[in-house]
Amino acid sequence: MRWEELTAPEFAAAVRETGVCVVALGVIERHSDHLPLGTDYLVGHKIACLAAEKEPAVVFPPFYFGQIYEARCFPGTLTLKPTLLLEVLQGVLDEIGRNGFRKIVLYNAHGGNSYLLGFLAQSALWEEKPYSLYIPLRRMTPEGEKEWEAIRDTSFGGHACEWETSLVLGTYPHLVKMERVPEAPGVPLKRMEHLPPTLTGIWWYSDYPEHYAGDARSASVGKGELLVRLESDYLAQYIAAVKADQVVPALEREFFARVKQVSGA
Ligand SMILES: [Zn+2]
Repeated sequence: MRWEELTAPEFAAAVRETGVCVVALGVIERHSDHLPLGTDYLVGHKIACLAAEKEPAVVFPPFYFGQIYEARCFPGTLTLKPTLLLEVLQGVLDEIGRNGFRKIVLYNAHGGNSYLLGFLAQSALWEEKPYSLYIPLRRMTPEGEKEWEAIRDTSFGGHACEWETSLVLGTYPHLVKMERVPEAPGVPLKRMEHLPPTLTGIWWYSDYPEHYAGDARSASVGKGELLVRLESDYLAQYIAAVKADQVVPALEREFFARVKQVSGA
């Protein structure tokens, strides 16, 4: 169910019946020159909607504010300053909780969000909320990964690659410009190799200054349809596991009761 398509009474019933809201997190950023800027949020939201048809949940409207500072050197990138971004994300989660959801799944559709979401997950212990936050760390089952490995033609990627280009071909084929796929694969330039393994903000740019990681020439609609099925099936299973989970909410209640004890409240 899509939040924005429900009437108010339908929404109230959906909250009671499912208890779970799924927020797909994408961004607006360059994807080489052959995929649309909205690739991550378009694909993420589509997969969330398909998953919620298989395992009922309410899908939050398309959301595309995330960490994508490393693409600000390209036209069309859209993001918010770090403090505002965290406030917006927290505000969105709180508003979902205010509407009665006790469980929220944050489905990340953008690799560059991973540290941000890790911090957001940890921030759940800052103060007690009426909801629990769940962030899946996989996009498909290990068996699904084997199925994908068996048909993929390239062994590397990460951005606008065979995998991601196929996903857009499998969801929004009219938005893919296969004739604009670069002739040369996007391989890491390794410009930080002189350092021991290091994290800096510029690391992605140091490897991929054209925002292309992989080789999309072998992407296809058929591969995309398989990926969409594997990823939406997995997310549906994940939503079912979240619905059944009683442990995380109980542990959070226990944790915050001890926090109160410490402060003598
Ligand atoms: Zn992407």
